Parts: sequence; C-alpha cells; structure tokens
Amino acid sequence: MANVCDILIIGGGVAGLSAAAALSEHARVAVLEAEEQIGFHSSGRSATMLHYALGDRLVRALTLASRGFIEAPPDGFGDVPLGRRMPVLVHAREDEREALDSLDAEISLFARLERLDAHGVHELCPLLREDALYGIADLNGIRLDPHALLQGFLRQLRDRGGALHTGARVSSIERNSGIWLATSQAGAQFSAPVLVNGAGAWADAVARLAGIEPLGLEPKRRTIITFDAPPGTDLDRLPFAKTVGDELYFAPESGRLFASPMDEVPSDPIDAQPDEYEVALAAWRMQERTVVKVERIHSRWAGLRTFAPDRHPVAGFAPDAEQFFWLAGQGGFGLQTSPAMARIVASLIAGEPWPIADVSPEELSPDRFARQAA
Ligand SMILES: Cc1cc2nc3c(=O)[nH]c(=O)nc-3n(C[C@H](O)[C@H](O)[C@H](O)COP(=O)(O)OP(=O)(O)OC[C@H]3O[C@@H](n4cnc5c(N)ncnc54)[C@H](O)[C@@H]3O)c2cc1C
Repeated sequence: MANVCDILIIGGGVAGLSAAAALSEHARVAVLEAEEQIGFHSSGRSATMLHYALGDRLVRALTLASRGFIEAPPDGFGDVPLGRRMPVLVHAREDEREALDSLDAEISLFARLERLDAHGVHELCPLLREDALYGIADLNGIRLDPHALLQGFLRQLRDRGGALHTGARVSSIERNSGIWLATSQAGAQFSAPVLVNGAGAWADAVARLAGIEPLGLEPKRRTIITFDAPPGTDLDRLPFAKTVGDELYFAPESGRLFASPMDEVPSDPIDAQPDEYEVALAAWRMQERTVVKVERIHSRWAGLRTFAPDRHPVAGFAPDAEQFFWLAGQGGFGLQTSPAMARIVASLIAGEPWPIADVSPEELSPDRFARQAA
C-alpha cells in the first residue's frame, strides 16, 4: 500500500526541504531522502556563507531576496540564529585591479561596499600578503549555520503536517492515471499527483528514472581543508577573504582556518571525497596569497556544486511530462538562495504571488533550454 500525499519531493537537502516547508502551507507534502540523515551531501559540506561575490545578477537577486528570512526567520523556525555577521573581503593584486572594479560595480547594485586601499585590506585581514593592494568589503556578510537552516525547514514541514522519509532511495518512478508512484530501493511506495525533483547532483538521474529528458546538469567537486592559524591570530575579527578570481578563499572555522582552492572538478553524482591534488593546491595557494604556512592539515572534505548549463538555478514544470517539477542547479549558492527559491516553488506549484520582481519565471524555467536549442 503506497503512502499517499499531494506533493512528493525527492531530496532532503536544502532545496528539497525549503520547498517542502513552503509547499506544506498548501498541501500534504512528503520528502524522500536516500540517506539516513538530511543534508548528508552538498547541503552539509558547504562554505556556509551568504555573500554577493558569486554568481551573477540573477543569483545576487535571489540572495538579496533571501536575506530578510535568514536575518529574521519566522516564529517557530527555531531558537538558533541562522547565521552571524562576518565581513566579506574580495582582494586583488595590481594585475587584478580591473576585475575588482567590474565586480565592485556589479555587487554595488545589491550591497553597500567599502572600497579599501592596501592599508584597509591589511587592517581587515592581516594574513594577506603585501601584494594584496586593493579590496572591496561587504561588512554585512553572513556566515550561515546550515544545520539550523535545514532543521528549521524540517520543523516547519512537520508542524504543517508534512513528513520526511529518510533511507528512502527512490529507484523507480512511474506515472499512472495522473499519479506519480515512486518506489524506494527497500520497496516502500509513495504516490502523489505532483513530483518535485530536488535531488541535487542526482537530479538528472532521477529524471531518467521517470523517463524524462535530463537537463545536462554538471556536478562539480569543491574541496575544503582546515588547519591552524598562526599563533596570535585574532580569529574573531577575520573576514571571509576571497581572491577576485576563482583562486582561493579562506575564513575562520571553529578555532582554526578553512580554505578552498575553488576547484570545480567535473564529477559523477557520488559521495564526493577530497582528492590529494586539490588538498595540496589549497595549502599551496594559502602560501601564495597569504603569510600562513600550512604545516598540518587538520581536516578535509569535498562536496558537489551542481550547475545547469547556464549556471542559473532551475525551477519549473518539465515541458515533457505532466506535473514533474524541476528544482535543480543550485550550484554554489543553494543555501543563501533557499528562502527565495522556496517561495518561487510555492508560487509556481501552489499559486502564491510571484515573490521577486527582479526575477522572472522564464529565467528559471527548464523550458529555457528547449528555447535556446530551437
Ligand atoms: C565546498 C562547497 C562550498 C559551498 N559554499 C556555499 C556557500 O558559501 N553558500 C551557499 O549558499 N552555497 C554553497 N554551496 C552550495 C550549496 O551547498 C548547494 O547549492 C546546496 O547544498 C544544494 O542543495 P541541494 O538540496 O540541491 O543538494 P543536496 O544537499 O546534495 O541534496 C540532494 C539530496 O537528494 C538526495 N537524493 C539523491 N538521489 C535520490 C534518490 N534517488 N532518492 C532519494 N533521495 C535522493 C541526496 O541523498 C541528497 O541528500 C557550497 C557547496 C560546496 C560543495
């Protein structure tokens, strides 16, 4: 006997859970998650920042539209703050100055930036090498607590009568008489008229199970290492510091530092593991751009950032199937855009008003790939 509801969501990461919480205001929702715990994949492995130095206009607009929720979550979301202030510093050498100028112009449409000279850069981040001559700083950056965010969405879902099924790896999907039937590897069955595909790096694989054309999503591995800061470093005052190009970022992390070489290594959808090369690259780039010598790596991890071909997120009904909704391609910005994306899903599926004037449904629709190909 199948578990019956109105909307089935595959994927218990931030995309699936945030959408589930929003949709459960309108319908009976069930989330199916393959792992035994939520956030086991990308949502639990990120750099946990909300900032405007990644993506483009669309991603920044979604980030800005999400910020209010992160700063003041609704009653009942949870007792723990979803983040804390951490300045974001983007720095540049002389040869990178032009790139910094154009990033400054783009971000300034969304956030108030301080323009820093070499003195200002080193005052904010004393660990940078002397060749960091220019900087832009967003003093209102937010270091997110992904656990609090995921738990809050889960609490909302449950308070509104929705359900999460963990250990439910969907291995077959059929549609009969207007109803989707998803069956897990263990044989549990779930049915609903609407199916949301929020399976992160596996979203194309889930579509194939349903006989739907994949979008060409590309999971890309990113690596993070943690290590000791030099003795005497005031970790509480350090920013999230990033090169203007995609080379290196680092920030304080639980009494140490973390760093990423900002790698984007194409990967299959798997339980991503750090590769020795990128681990060494992170340590080497720390030494290239900062005065920190990485003597011993304390911990390391990797996660997948999954992009649609145009690096914009996808939210919309599939053009080639009834009531199959794509929610994919959250790339490197899925946490910081999740509150706005959830409202967008609630608009497209449950008829809530469209939440963001600066973003159109067409920009997010999976139809855009067919339009581009035509
Ligand atoms: C190193 C790194 C740094 C990052 N930094 C940031 C940052 O600073 N800010 C930010 O906003 N974002 C950041 N991100 C990106 C962010 O983590 C992702 O965009 C986001 O977590 C994607 O969420 P998701 O729910 O789509 O994917 P996931 O969290 O991977 O969730 C998808 C879920 O679907 C489940 N699933 C798959 N197939 C099935 C199936 N057949 N049946 C049932 N369940 C299934 C999986 O088990 C998984 O739990 C970073 C990511 C990485 C890796």
